[in-house]
Amino acid sequence: MARPTKVQVAAREAAKLAASEPQADQPIATEQADSVQVLLPQMTTSDLLTIIATMQKQLMEQQRAQTEANKALAEAIMDSRKPYEDPKKKINDEIFKKQENLLTAQQKANIKAAQDQCEHIAGCNQLSEQKDLYGKTSIAWHRGDIGQVFGVCTVCQRIFHQDDPDFQKWKRMPSFNKMSASGSRWVSDPVAAQQRSRLKDSFLSE
Ligand SMILES: [Zn+2]
Repeated sequence: MARPTKVQVAAREAAKLAASEPQADQPIATEQADSVQVLLPQMTTSDLLTIIATMQKQLMEQQRAQTEANKALAEAIMDSRKPYEDPKKKINDEIFKKQENLLTAQQKANIKAAQDQCEHIAGCNQLSEQKDLYGKTSIAWHRGDIGQVFGVCTVCQRIFHQDDPDFQKWKRMPSFNKMSASGSRWVSDPVAAQQRSRLKDSFLSE
């Protein structure tokens, strides 16, 4: 084997030196950099896309979690502005409402009973001295502006409507009160208009 020439030896030395020195445009190798340098050549485009997609997904999840946290915070702030309501107050309100409903139902039943027992004869009120000797009724009759007739007992406040079964009986009887009447008005559908203007007991028909 021929001895290497001086030129060949110098070239080998130069090559060794170049291989051992870090390149100027490369960072000094750390462990991480080494692993990346080792891994990168083995990665395919598909692998890279998978990593990017995973990172994007993580980022989106973080953003979503942050949005939810912000929403919860906003709701908590809004809730903190609401005045505090004592749970006992709600229970008390319910009890009062129940009692009120019971009382109203009792009052309605009392009125209905008084109306059923009323004779509808002038002076039949217990506070009156003398019942009408001629048996005239205590009903005040009225003719409405579309011809509807109804009566109200001045003792018990029962309202007599034309479609009540006993309407004709009471209407035929002489009344202690003079009949009153409104002016008249023309309507295209008198039956519907009469229904609309039907006098109702504001308390009993509630
Ligand atoms: Zn009556």
